[in-house]
Amino acid sequence: MQEPQTAVTSAQCYCGAVKLLIAAGAKSVIHCHCGQCRRLSGSAFTTWVSFPKLAMELTGQESVAEYNATTNVKRHFCRSCGSHVYTLDSRAPEIVGVPAGAIEGELPKQPKAHYFVSHKAAWHSICDPLRQFGGELGFEPTAASQETPSK
Ligand SMILES: [Zn+2]
Ligand SMILES: [Zn+2]
Repeated sequence: MQEPQTAVTSAQCYCGAVKLLIAAGAKSVIHCHCGQCRRLSGSAFTTWVSFPKLAMELTGQESVAEYNATTNVKRHFCRSCGSHVYTLDSRAPEIVGVPAGAIEGELPKQPKAHYFVSHKAAWHSICDPLRQFGGELGFEPTAASQETPSK
């Protein structure tokens, strides 16, 4: 039997002051279309890669600014360049969410679904076959969630 490889994912802000090394596999990769993700990214949606928080090694802590986006969600940005580097949610304290755009190279997993599609930007069309969830809470199945993703 082969030893399982511990993949290390690296991520960093635009200016390089904040760096993350995550020595664990990703738990999931999803696209989030909620208003918070749209506004804070300045884009149509944010792709999140979630990891076990304990596996994250942070360099450049002094350059990290925190913002309480909601009572549960704390988003972390680079003070110098403004890049969003990671997010913590007190409802899932063992998880850290890293925006996919900050990650170097290939993602550790492929995106598996879209969430908060009822809140998505009016001008954006979802053109992939991934499952879609929406409704007020963002996680309710929609018609598109019935499709079986090809594996
Ligand atoms: Zn930076
Ligand atoms: Zn979101």
